[in-house]
Parts: sequence; C-alpha cells; structure tokens
Amino acid sequence: MSKPVCYSTKAFSAASASPPLGATTIERREPTPTDVKIEILYRGVCHSDLHFARNEWHFTQYPAVPGHEIVGRVTAVGSGVKKFKVGDKVGVGCLVDSCRTCPSCQQGLEQFCDLGMAGGTYGGTEKWLGTPTLGGYSQSIVVTEDFVLRMPANLDLAAAAPLLCAGITTYSPMRHWKVGPGQKVGIVGLGGLGHMAVKFAKAFGAHVVLFTTSPGKVADGKRLGADEVVISKDEKQMAAHAGSFDFIIDAVSAAHDINAYMNLLKRDGNLTLVGAPELPLPVAAFPLLMRRRSLSGSLIGGLPETQEMLDFCGKHNITCDIEMIKMDEINTAYERMLKSDVKYRFVIDMATLA
Ligand SMILES: [Zn+2]
Ligand SMILES: [Zn+2]
Repeated sequence: MSKPVCYSTKAFSAASASPPLGATTIERREPTPTDVKIEILYRGVCHSDLHFARNEWHFTQYPAVPGHEIVGRVTAVGSGVKKFKVGDKVGVGCLVDSCRTCPSCQQGLEQFCDLGMAGGTYGGTEKWLGTPTLGGYSQSIVVTEDFVLRMPANLDLAAAAPLLCAGITTYSPMRHWKVGPGQKVGIVGLGGLGHMAVKFAKAFGAHVVLFTTSPGKVADGKRLGADEVVISKDEKQMAAHAGSFDFIIDAVSAAHDINAYMNLLKRDGNLTLVGAPELPLPVAAFPLLMRRRSLSGSLIGGLPETQEMLDFCGKHNITCDIEMIKMDEINTAYERMLKSDVKYRFVIDMATLA
C-alpha cells in the first residue's frame, strides 16, 4: 500500500492534556479510489471529545483533534466511489474503519468488530499514513465511502449532527430490545443522550417516563415528549413506579444508584447502560433474581443501523436541541458541559474556523 499524497487543512487541536485547545494545521490523505472528501459544515460536541482531549481514557496522542458528530458536503470522490457524488450532504459518526470480515462486521455491527479493529474517527489509526486518526474539529475530512452516511434532505444539518453519536447511542438499544407501543420506558438523565432517548422512545410509541435529579428539568422533559417526569431523589415518587417498566435506558455518566432503577423493572425487564461512569457500579443481586431482570450495555450502532436511524429521523422530523457556538468558544463550552449547562448539545459552526 503506497502512501497517498497529503494536503493541509485547518483544525482545532489539544497540544496536551491541559486546556485550552487552539488553532492549528493538520495533514490528511487525499482521497484514495474508495474515499470521500468532505467539507465539514457543522459538528456536535460530545462528552467523549472532552475526555479524549484531556487524556482521561489514557490513550490520547498529541496533538489530538476530537470530534465525531460530523456533517458536511462532499467536495471530491475517489475513482471507485459508487454511493456518493460531489455536493451530497453526508455525515460521519464515531467510526471510520473496521476489519469488514469478522462475524460482527459482516452483520453490520462494526462497533463490536471481533478483531478489535473498529477504527475511531479520532484516537484510532489512520491506516494509510500510520498516524493517529484526527477528528472533526477541522475544515475537512477524508473517509472511506463505506463509513460515510447519507443525511436526510429535510433535516436541519446543524441540529442533525449530534444524531451521529448521541442519536445512534440511544436509538440502537431501543431497537435491539424492541421498544414499542404498549411498553413503559424509563430514561435516566436528561442530557445530550437522554434528550434523544426521550424523543426516540416517544416516536416508537412507548409510554415515556423521564428520571431527573433537577426539578428545573420537569417542564423541558415534557416538552421533549416525556409522558411523566419523576424526580429521582424523591423516594415516594420512585416507589410509585416499582415493578412497572419494560425497559430503562440509563444515560448517566456519574456515580449513581442503579439498584433503585432495577427495582422499577417488571419481570424480565431490562436496564441498559449507555453512559460510562468512571468507577464500577455496585449491583445488588436480589433485585435481579426476584423478577429475572437483566442489566446490559450498548455502544453506538453499526453503519447500517446508523443509516436506518438517520432515515427514521428524516421521516419523523427528529433532530437534536442544540446551542450553536463558534470554534474558538470550544474551551468555554467544555467548562459548561462539565456543569451540565447545555440544552442539550453544543454544535460548532465550522465556518467560524475559516
Ligand atoms: Zn460521542
Ligand atoms: Zn471486524
């Protein structure tokens, strides 16, 4: 495999684990025959970006360019590209590569690649150049066509950007565990993930109950589609829902008592974690045993399901609630995210990087 020619593009990067991020120039490969070159128009800001920029997962190499909720316009395609043409509106999520041959990849579950070759949009390995992959905080990106997604024409592109991570992370487990009409579904935590979970559960026809610690989020939870909002610190409100849920999606990344939620599941009910608390969560055996309840986890979604999710959002007119920022406001945005001071996702207008 000969090294492709590279070009320079403007970006915003972290030089070390200490803030702030700043403007820089990075090198990317020019499209190979199967690649699509994308001018990035908007990009959602995920909590993972912050963890990665600050090396909180202990694998970051610097300079680091985060960003995996990317939407933009195709500006060039390789000679063998079949699915996309110049001008198409496209998206790129958390993955830009995988082995393509293992059982999980063959089933379109690239996020679980059995060979551990699910290539992150950032923090992975750029297989052509042998360097770390660089994410979407930049003017353009080059991605193999199999990992490029088509954006529905009717959706606002900026508000659709966070669908590529926050959206698919909540859509996929609800599809896997067949959330639908007649079910009672709980959503724990109203942040970037939780607000999308509320919208999807409602769109799937479930009775939706949002759990939050903040009384200030009750009205917003209902506006987003929750049928009921429970203040999780209120034991009486929690007890009123004991043994009644088919499915609960837990989007909280901080330490919290999941046993309180296990007790709310029906017989054979399932609680799925999509948040990733830093420390192990203590799980009591009896709430699991007594009603054959399950505890599970879920990670983004594969490429076919991510496209299915985008098409579903186009059909049902679902986007994220966003706050648009300029590229150089990213450092302030990180500080605000740490205080949960965002409704519900920051999106960067990439024209401000010019
Ligand atoms: Zn993410
Ligand atoms: Zn694989």
